[in-house]
Formats: sequence, C-alpha cells, structure tokens
Amino acid sequence: MNFEPIIGLEVHIELSTKSKMFCGCPAEHFGVSPNTQVCPVCLGLPGALPAANKLAIENCIRFGLALNCEVSEFSKFDRKHYFYPDLPKSFQISQYDLPFCINGKYESIRIKRVHMEEDTGKLIHTNLNGKKVSLVDFNRSGVPLVELVTEPDFRSVDAVVKFLKEIQLTVRYLGISTADMEKGSMRLEANISLRVKEQESKRVNELPDYKVELKNINSFRYLTKALDAEIKRQAELLEDGKKIKQETRGYDEDRDRTFSQRSKEEAQDYRYFPEPDIPPIRIGELKIKNLKFKFPELPSQKRGKYQKLGLSANYIEVLVQERARADYFETALALAKQYNISEKEIAGVMVNQNLDGKFAEPAGLVKKLVELQNVDYASQADVEEAIKKVVLDNGKAVKDYQAGKEQVLGFLIGMVQKELKGKGKIELIKETLISYIHGR
Ligand SMILES: [Zn+2]
Repeated sequence: MNFEPIIGLEVHIELSTKSKMFCGCPAEHFGVSPNTQVCPVCLGLPGALPAANKLAIENCIRFGLALNCEVSEFSKFDRKHYFYPDLPKSFQISQYDLPFCINGKYESIRIKRVHMEEDTGKLIHTNLNGKKVSLVDFNRSGVPLVELVTEPDFRSVDAVVKFLKEIQLTVRYLGISTADMEKGSMRLEANISLRVKEQESKRVNELPDYKVELKNINSFRYLTKALDAEIKRQAELLEDGKKIKQETRGYDEDRDRTFSQRSKEEAQDYRYFPEPDIPPIRIGELKIKNLKFKFPELPSQKRGKYQKLGLSANYIEVLVQERARADYFETALALAKQYNISEKEIAGVMVNQNLDGKFAEPAGLVKKLVELQNVDYASQADVEEAIKKVVLDNGKAVKDYQAGKEQVLGFLIGMVQKELKGKGKIELIKETLISYIHGR
C-alpha cells in the first residue's frame, strides 16, 4: 500500500521580553545560575498575584498577524492543570477557548491558533554524591511562551521543515524571539498519522482515527530523522493490518527509532478553567491597527521585491536569511542609484565577496564600488611591458618560482602592480605573468 503522512505541528516560541510573563523577574535565563531569577509569583507561592506582561501580549498578536490570523476581540487566560515537579503551582497559565489569534494561513498551511502561555521550570537530571537525582531550576518558570498550532495540513517531511524555517525567520524579522532551537527558545511537537494515498483511497478527505505525538524535538536534523523513523514504523504496522495506538513518543537517535512515552491526554484531563487573578482582555481595532502600522517587511515580501529587481533565487535567499543583511542591501541600493551601480552588482559583492562584512556601513561599500568603477585600468600591452621589466630585474625570484616556490608569485605580482602605479587588474597580471614565465 502507498501511504501519505498527515502531519500537524505545535511550535513553542519563547519571547525575548525583558521580564517574565506575570512577574518582574528577568526573562533571559540561558546560562544564568539556577534559581536566582525567581519570586513568589513564578514560584507559585500562596497569595502571590500575577500581572500580565503587555509587551509579551502585543508580540504574540504581532506574530499572529504575520501568519494572517484573526485577532480575538475578547480574550482571556485559563489554568491548565497537571502535576509535574517543574510546575510549582500545579497549573500553567495558558489560553483555552479564547486565544489571542485564530484562523491564520501560511501558504497552504492553515494555522489553527496562536496563544500565549508561561514556560515551566527546567529539570536537570544528574548525579549527586553517587546518587541519581533530578534538580529543578525555576529561572525559566513564567517566561513568556507563544504556542502556534497548525491544522494537520503537511503531507511531507520537507514541507514541515520548510514551514518551520520560515516561522523561525519570521519571528527573527519581527524581533520577538531568537528562536534558537539549541537553546530551547524554539521547541517543536509533531502530530503524525498515515492514510492510504488520496488517489487510491475512496474516502479522500477523511483523517485517520489516531495520531501519534512526537515530543522533545530540538533541531531540524533531529526532526527529519524522527519523522522519517515514525512514518516507517506506522507504515509497517498498517501493512500488517495492525491498529496504531494514540500516544506520545520520543525519538532515540542512536537506534534511529521512536519509543512510547505515555498515552496521550485529552483536553478534559487538564481541567481547564478561567484564571481568576487576571481580568479578560479586550483588543480593539485601533490597537490592531497600531500593531500593524509598526510591522517590518517580512521575508516573503522581501523575496517578492528582490524578484522584481531581477535577482537570482540564490542571491535572494542569501540576502533574506538575515534581516540586517536585507536592510543593508536596500540602503546600499538607494545610495548607489546616482552612480549607476546595478542591484546585481551590489548583491554580487555581498553574496560572493562578503563585502558587507568588510564595510560596516552601506555607504562604505558603495564608495568602494564607485572607486572600482573609476579605475582606469592599464592595457594588455602596458601589462606585458611591465612584466618584461620586472622579470628582467628579478632574475632570482623568477628562478625560485620556476623551481616550485609558488609563494614568490605574489611578490612578482606586487612588483608589476608597482610598475603600473596600481592600475593593473590583478587577474590579468597573474595570468599574463604565469604564461610569460612558463613561455621563457
Ligand atoms: Zn518571578
């Protein structure tokens, strides 16, 4: 049988705000010594009252807007209950039935919701005095976390990776998170099931009656391997006519296999109820307009613009991968207009020669290009004339080069350049010099 994967994603993104979601503790926790950024609120001590971080909510909504979501006029926070040592309150403040953003779309992928919640603490499994122990660090407890949930619209692993890379880029363009998977500021879970390929099946739009959740995915490479392994496992079971259990699975990279972790919870298991300590939130039209007004150009818009300039796909991708680089390119472009320097020239020296790395300011790069434009190069005849003279004057160096001392060539080129008072093109000198010496 021919199966196709049905994949949906849950992406968690830690926002890089100054303070945590419901208290004033610093949100940046990477590399900070354990339990030094905590207070009664994020430790869940009795009587402590949370106050929502406005900027975090705004950034969550901006993210939703970037994914073409509708923003809920009326929204609230809810308590999601479960017991785990990294969750001091025994509930997490999240959003249940009224998330900030719903019904988005990115290309062919439908976005179900984008909501705001708080991160949990972190468990560290280690050895202490010869004993295996688990330690808890609450620095991460209460850090603002945005959750994005897609519909199960992916039909290949490649499509999943492409989408996630675009999400990462978008978040970085918005400046709301570093979305660094290795540091855990972007984390993924994938729901996956298989069905018989559409053209072979009579029931075209029906989704399978199970899904397996893959958890703790911390890199794109790992994601690809874990999904491939799980697709293979499910296909083998279905081929044998077996039913697949609805559960949560992890991935063992050494054995290249997924393994069962626990059976999957349903929403009712979390006993959601409205958070009584935080008033519901109304988001007016004006607020949304303001947030939209401050929007940067997103990667997809930049791509469209650069395509119109006639840049090749390869150049476009290199320029778009960093917002700072794309901005640099555009500033240089505006400055270069009066000098008749083309878009392709600027993109070329940035992508191929990394000239933007040499000049901190776009103006410096443009100045360099103008200089190069104005150089009046020596003719082939002048170059040959100069080479003849240099070879005559530097007999020993020429002999050394002929004996295999390659590094002498640089010295000889330098001498020719000097003879030409800097007007020689290096490639031309090099080529002519080598053929002249070999021809002797
Ligand atoms: Zn705190």
